[in-house]
This record gives sequence, C-alpha cells and structure tokens, in this order.
Amino acid sequence: MIHRLIARMLPFLPKKVVWLFSRRYISGIHLEDAVKAAIDLDQNGAWATVDHLGEFITELAQVAEAREACLNALELLAREDLNVTCSLKPTSFGLLINFDFCYQAVREVVMRAGELGKMVRIDMEDATCVDRELELYRRLHAEFPKNVGIVIQSYLRRTADDLIKLASWHSDKTPVNVRLCKGIYQESEVIAYKKRDEINERYLADLTFLFSHGIYVGIATHDKFLVRGAYDLIENFGLSPDQYEFQMLFGVTPELRAEIIGHGHHMRVYVPYGRDWFGYSTRRLRENPKMVGQIIKALFIRG
Ligand SMILES: Cc1cc2nc3c(=O)[nH]c(=O)nc-3n(C[C@H](O)[C@H](O)[C@H](O)COP(=O)(O)OP(=O)(O)OC[C@H]3O[C@@H](n4cnc5c(N)ncnc54)[C@H](O)[C@@H]3O)c2cc1C
Repeated sequence: MIHRLIARMLPFLPKKVVWLFSRRYISGIHLEDAVKAAIDLDQNGAWATVDHLGEFITELAQVAEAREACLNALELLAREDLNVTCSLKPTSFGLLINFDFCYQAVREVVMRAGELGKMVRIDMEDATCVDRELELYRRLHAEFPKNVGIVIQSYLRRTADDLIKLASWHSDKTPVNVRLCKGIYQESEVIAYKKRDEINERYLADLTFLFSHGIYVGIATHDKFLVRGAYDLIENFGLSPDQYEFQMLFGVTPELRAEIIGHGHHMRVYVPYGRDWFGYSTRRLRENPKMVGQIIKALFIRG
C-alpha cells in the first residue's frame, strides 16, 4: 500500500529523488551507455533493442532530435557485430501533431535501417495512438517489410481484429514481425481488459493466433505464467528458436531472463537511454510498486 502510494507520488518528487528509484531501468544518458549494456547482454547470451527515451512531444521542431538519435544509434550499432535493433515511440516523431511529418521522419530511419541490414520496432503507445501507429506500420511494412516491426497490446479489446488485419499483410516475402505485450498505459474498461486473468487469457490466445499464421513474435513479458504458456505453445506448434524470441525490459527479472536463455530460447532486452527518462521510469515503478520498497531497502541498508 505504502509502496503504491510512493510510486503514485513519484511524478511530484524532485527529479534527483526519482532518479534514485529509476536508474535500474535506464542504461544511462548516452548512446554509448546503451551500446555498453548491449555488449554486456551479448556476453550473457541476450540480444538488445535500444530505445532513445522521449515521447509525446509538443512541437515538430523536437522531431529532429529523435530522428538524429535513431540514425546515430543505427550507424554505431551497424559497426558493432551485435544483433541489436532500435525501438522508437512515434509520439516522439510528432505522431499526434502531424501524421505525414511523423511518417516521413520514421521512414528515413527505417530506410537507413534497411541499408544497414537493421530493424526498427515501432512501440505501441496509448489508445489514442493505435490506429495511427498501425497505419504507420502498414505503410512502412509495404516498403521495407524486413526492416520494421510493430507492437500489439493484449489488454485492448480491439486486438483480435487488429491481428486479423496484420495476418492479411503477412506473406513469405512480406513477413510481419510482432512484439506481443500486455500493454502498459492506463486505459478505460470500455476499451481494455483490466483483470489480470482476462489479460493473460487474451495474451495466450493472441500468441496462438500469431503462431498459427507463421508470424515471428517477440514474446515480451516477465510473467512466469505467460512464459510457461509460451513454452507449451512453442512445443505444440513445433517451432524452432528462429521463429520467435522472448523479450524483457532492462533491469527487470534478470533471473527469469537467464532461465529462458538457459532453456535455449533467444532473448532480447529493451535498453532505454537518454535524458528524457522520467515518463518511462515512473511507468515502470507504478507497474511494480514493490520495487520502491526494495530500492528504499537497498539505499538505506547498503547505502
Ligand atoms: C521488451 C518489452 C517491450 C515493451 N513494449 C511495450 C510497448 O511498446 N507498449 C506497451 O504498452 N507496453 C510495452 N511493454 C510493457 C508491457 O506492456 C507490460 O506493461 C510489462 O511488460 C509488464 O507486464 P508483464 O507481462 O511483465 O506482466 P506483469 O504481470 O506486469 O509482471 C509479471 C512480473 O514481472 C515482474 N515485473 C514486471 N514489471 C516490473 C517492473 N517494472 N519492475 C520490476 N519487476 C517487474 C514482477 O515480478 C511481476 O510480478 C513492453 C514490455 C517489454 C518486456
């Protein structure tokens, strides 16, 4: 209860205090910090996807920073011999201000990824963005099918219909690539499932649908129940490890991550970096208020 309360208060606390709670989820401020984390993960058998933090910008002038950050990340990552992708949030490219402007900027990034043999994942944001983010993906996938992926949130009631749409875009030549997650934003009951059991049931139904259509899935979860459910589905469908991967967030459940890698599955870790860490990390802490208690203990007991 007290942890939940502190987690809710975080946005009102001084940034320096919030940073103490947040830093376990963020690789650092600079691209080099993210690359260092990616190299470290690689040495421990995991791939990475790096994310330059930032979202919901208010002026199109801010798009240049997001675009340059992604382009720089792609250039640097292409020089390292690592299996690393980039993830981006379209609202940091002006999605909610001017769709065409956003599309052109993201297209530049995806095109460069294609030239460098890399992939860019379009993160899924709150429900006001879903139609526009799917449209962004539809257009980019038509032009660069192997260099762009999308995210689907199982908590949304609309997801079953969206998956049918995605499956219709999928073929051997134009493979669709989906990261499947529960969904992190606060949505109303009208549009989203709220109960954990319901969301888990939908998640496994969505995963079954994607596997049955031969779609590559990034199984993004730290939920042991879903991990076990995914193991069963992988076995039932007779999939080989190059047809899916597990995905987790930097700083979350490293033991479960090691267990999954130990079972011979591919694992990719979402590695955020940058100055704009506040929104991302307070969402993470609200998601798991117990963390607040653990961090307080670590701070006071171990100094
Ligand atoms: C790689 C990746 C990318 C994602 N991309 C998106 C996206 O584009 N859009 C979107 O809406 N959501 C995204 N998410 C977030 C996702 O939707 C969930 O909110 C988040 O993963 C928590 O759900 P869970 O499946 O891990 O299950 P939960 O039931 O929330 O968690 C299961 C267990 O994992 C541990 N855990 C979970 N979160 C934390 C935490 N923050 N700190 C410490 N322990 C924790 C706890 O032990 C918890 O009991 C992403 C998640 C991952 C892993």
